[in-house]
Amino acid sequence: MAQVITITSGKGGTGKTTTAINLGVALRALGEEVMVVDANLTTPNIGLHLGAPIVPISLNHILLGKAPLEEAIYEHESGTKIMPSSLSVRELDRVRFSKLQEVTKKLRKEKGYIILDSSAGLGEEAVAALVACDDVIVVTNPEMPSVTDALKTIKVAEGLGKNVKGIILTRYTGEKSEMPLSHIKDLLEKPILGIVPEDKRVREALALKNALVYTHPRSKAARAYKKIAAKISGRRVKEDAWYLRVMTGLGWT
Ligand code: ADP
Ligand code: MG
Repeated sequence: MAQVITITSGKGGTGKTTTAINLGVALRALGEEVMVVDANLTTPNIGLHLGAPIVPISLNHILLGKAPLEEAIYEHESGTKIMPSSLSVRELDRVRFSKLQEVTKKLRKEKGYIILDSSAGLGEEAVAALVACDDVIVVTNPEMPSVTDALKTIKVAEGLGKNVKGIILTRYTGEKSEMPLSHIKDLLEKPILGIVPEDKRVREALALKNALVYTHPRSKAARAYKKIAAKISGRRVKEDAWYLRVMTGLGWT
């Protein structure tokens, strides 16, 4: 049975879509079956990030019962499967977010990983992505508003009976103005699955409309995502010197 993981955050723009796509492609590179679903129906980004902005059949059609599930599944060149949402506002009409759990119930019959890219916050759409999953990963940046909002998301996810696997800290620069890692760990009381540094290659990959781990596999951020993917799939991971320095509070090298 596939494991359904929702990538979410309290605050917007923390790096959820970047994380969902790159974890997906990194898990696929490890030989896993993966599907990334754009559960951010109101402001969908997966198709844009991967150069397929307009598709004939999307998750919207599935939620409206207008097409069979298989018709909304596309394949990235890495072999990662993608289920985009529609960019058209018209196709959002009458979509019920709560139907997402019926979609994941069917997708769970496959093997591997189903990764849901959620909207931010705790509105109806974001809650539907929590309800529809088994496990939750919360993406936060190292700053107070992002971390306090992440805490709320963790509480709501747990209230729904979901397993919060941990936190991914993204856009880490190591600057003194950032919230210290020890404070983040104390406040959130969840394992930190990985730290993804601020990396201009992320934007370069976006300009190429492709996944960073595919276009810039040796970049710092891609290496971080590959390590997180290895951890998620239960592989043993050898941490590099940079990660160990950050985790032990010695900071950026
Ligand atoms: P969300 O899905 O949470 O709204 P995105 O993944 O779309 O967030 O990322 C928001 C912005 O931050 C994008 O412009 C993206 O390119 C940028 N970004 C995300 N992660 C990084 C990173 N590690 N380094 C630099 N820029 C990043
Ligand atoms: Mg997004």
